[in-house]
Formats: sequence, C-alpha cells, structure tokens
Amino acid sequence: SLWQNCQNVMQQDLPAQEFNTWIRPLQSLEEGGVVTLFAPNKFVRDWVLDKYADTINQHLTQINSGQLPSLRVEVGTKPTDSRVAQQAAPKLEIGNKLNSIPDIKPPAFSPAPAVHVPKANVQPRNEAGLQLKSNIRENYTFDNFVEGKSNQLARAAACQVADNPGVSYNPLFLYGGVGLGKTHLLHAVGNEILNRNPDAKVIYMHSERFVQDMVKALQNNAIESFKKHYRSVNALLIDDIQFFAKKERSQEEFFHTFNALLEGNQQIIMTSDRYPKEIEGVEDRLKSRFGWGLTIAIEPPELETRVAILMKKAQEAKVNLPHEVAFFIAKRLRSHVRELEGALNRVVAHANFTGKPITIEFVKEALRDLLALQEKLVTIDNIQRTVAEYYKIKVADILSKRRSRSVARPRQVAMALAKELTSHSLPEIGDAFGGRDHTTVLHACRKIKELREENLDIKEDYLNLIRTLSS
Ligand code: ADP
Ligand code: MG
Repeated sequence: SLWQNCQNVMQQDLPAQEFNTWIRPLQSLEEGGVVTLFAPNKFVRDWVLDKYADTINQHLTQINSGQLPSLRVEVGTKPTDSRVAQQAAPKLEIGNKLNSIPDIKPPAFSPAPAVHVPKANVQPRNEAGLQLKSNIRENYTFDNFVEGKSNQLARAAACQVADNPGVSYNPLFLYGGVGLGKTHLLHAVGNEILNRNPDAKVIYMHSERFVQDMVKALQNNAIESFKKHYRSVNALLIDDIQFFAKKERSQEEFFHTFNALLEGNQQIIMTSDRYPKEIEGVEDRLKSRFGWGLTIAIEPPELETRVAILMKKAQEAKVNLPHEVAFFIAKRLRSHVRELEGALNRVVAHANFTGKPITIEFVKEALRDLLALQEKLVTIDNIQRTVAEYYKIKVADILSKRRSRSVARPRQVAMALAKELTSHSLPEIGDAFGGRDHTTVLHACRKIKELREENLDIKEDYLNLIRTLSS
C-alpha cells in the first residue's frame, strides 16, 4: 500500500525512536485517492500534521507516480467493518517487510517460499517433520547485559525463567520503550536455556514474523504444520507483540498456541512496547491472559547505568574509553541504549580513523551534530512548550500562579523534566518558571519522583515527554 511504502522510506530516514513514536503507530485507510491516517490520540495527530505532513505528502506523491493523493490525518482507529477488512487482505502483510528482519530464519512450512525470501535462509523440509534450528543470537547474553535500577526486576525475572523454564513465571511479560534491552533479554533467556539443555527447543520470534508466517501457511494450506511447529517448543520467546494489534486471525492462532503451551508447562516470554492492557486492537481475553504470569516494566536506564553500559560496550570493542568520557556521553544522551551504542560506534570509528585517543574534546568533535541537537532541543523553554502541548494547557498557565490540579501537576512535571534534562540549577529553573523559589522546584522534583512510582499515568506521561524531548 502507499502508506506502507511511505513508512518504509521514513523508517530509513528517521531515527528509530522518532519513527516508532510518531510514524509507526499511524494506521492508514486508502480509498478513492484519499489516504486517511489514523493517529492514536490528538497529541500524535497534531504533532504529525505539524512536523511530518509535508514530508509524508512528498513521499506519497513520489510513490504514487507523481500524483498527490489527498491526505487526511484523524484521531481514532481504522474502521474494521468487513468491507475494509477485505481490502486489507493478508497479502499486504507479507512481502516487503521480510527484509527488515534478516536475523530470523523462517521456518519451513511453505513448500514454495515467497520470492522475497533469500534462498539461503530457507531450511529444507525435513522428512520427519520440521527441523528446528535455533535462531537465538549468541551475543545477547545475561553476561553482557548491564544491570541497573531500571532493568533489575526484568533481568531477575528473566534469569529465574531461564533457570526453570515453564515453572516459575509463565508467561513472563516484559514491556518498555524502544531500545531498552527487551530483545536482548529474550535472547539471553534463550541462550541460558540452551546452555543448560542443548536439546531444548527454543524459538525466538518477532510478532510481525509470526503474522507473516501464519499468512503464508494459510495460503499454502500448511496451517496444521504451522500449529505443530509452535506447539512443539519448550520455550517460545515472542517479541513486540504490539504488532498483533488488529490482526485478528493471528491473535486467534496465537491464543490457541498460547493456551497449548501453558497447558504443557512450556515457557512463554513476551515483550511489548507498552503495558499489555494498553495495547489497542488486541482482544481482551488475550490481554488478560498475558497478565497471568508476571508483568514487568523496563525503564530508561539512569545515568550510572548508562555509563556502565558504555564502559561495557567499549570493553567488548576493545577500546579504551576513559570513565569521564563515558560520563560525558551518558550525561547527554539519555533516551535509550541503542542511541548510546550508536554514539559509541561513531566515536570508535573516528578514533580508528584519526588514530587519536578518546578524550572529551575528541568526543565533542565526533558527536558534534548529535550533541548540538540535544542541546538545542532540551531547553527549559522547549520543555515548557512541549509539556503545555502534551497536557493541552497554555505555557502561560505553567508560568502563572494558578494552583488548580490541571495546571499545577503539569507545571511540576515540567520542573522535574527541566531538572533532569538540562544542567540548570534549581534557582535558575525557579526563575524560568515565573520566578519561583528553588525550594518549590525541589518540592516538584520530589513529588513527581514519588508519583512516578505509584501512578501509572504520571509515569507514562513522564516517559512520553522524555522520549519526545530527547528524540
Ligand atoms: P528493545 O528490544 O527494547 O528495543 P534491544 O534489546 O534491541 O532493545 O536493545 C538495543 C541495544 O541496546 C542492543 O544492542 C542491546 O544489546 C543494547 N542494550 C540494551 N540494554 C542493555 C543493557 N542493559 N546492557 C547492555 N546492552 C544493552
Ligand atoms: Mg526489540
């Protein structure tokens, strides 16, 4: 579809986090030369209209052989009456995305693989049935997963499950933003299970892949072997299940597989970018089952963990990264681990290229554009504007003396963000918030910290805002 092609192009152009936050959640309906995009909420819609409408129009025009389709962006979800469901025939789901998940070998249900699948990746059909070759990535282990407050629980639960698959927590559900180590942990569990029992059947599967394979199996009348394949495993590690949204048939199939595995005490671990109950377009009965075992969040790593991760990665790459330099980078790049890795890779490449030692000065130069961007984006001013926009109030309200909850809470959130994301002092922040005292700022920071621990809404809001501000 036009939109899918457009998304593919934008995925190449935008940082992953930005793409995932704003573009990926948009659903499209294409009818009679009109492309309607559905945004999950007003905030996303406005943002998309404001920041991406031109780009989207350009891409769509190009993809549509020079003709500009008319574009609408609405709040809501794509209508799912049968007529529309038919238009979004499963065919659209297979194909062009296969290439984006190169590290996963497709199982061999389909005697005639789709043309997009590189031959080398297709395993021959085994006489006795299906040959399971593990697709666990060996370099994602517990050993090289750096532990910190933000991921401690998730790591501990994953360890337990790896030690006693099918027994302790089943299913285990890990959720959290992009680039925080969910996929890494899944593979770590897989590796650990295989270490202990090399004969174990462990499958790692991205949900998108599950959907594609199922559609293929349906088309090839191979659904029975598809079912058998998944139900014969000791552990099923299924990644990013938010991709099941709106794929009713896949959900149905997954539901049965899920039940069969649980009944047989086989381990299931799932990940998602959000809390299970908040995944729209997934049936309630499925969502409630996701919560039968244990559900745990992974949060963005705090400063110390970010430093530790950088040091670890540098050590793996056999690079001498001084501690103060790691600190300098970690202090400035806050959103997720993938971004840190990217920055480190760049520093290392520059170092190799120039033969210079890695110092703070050197890093400032190597990461100049990235750091400039961060600095430009995260000003108190910008924080106030973004927070106001997010809560649908005015910046003037934030600066005012008004004390009503609808204004006071966002104001506290904005202060806490200013403290966390900028290097301004408490008095400076107080000044920038309509001349408040530094103790007011301190109080706001403490209050928000407390609320983030007990109130899921505030926690989500805060994380969303951090993501928006640092992408
Ligand atoms: P997610 O699946 O949550 O989007 P990934 O598991 O793909 O994130 O992690 C992104 C990158 O960051 C991977 O290369 C992973 O190894 C690395 N990473 C994330 N968290 C950690 C951690 N705690 N320690 C070491 N590496 C990490
Ligand atoms: Mg992942």
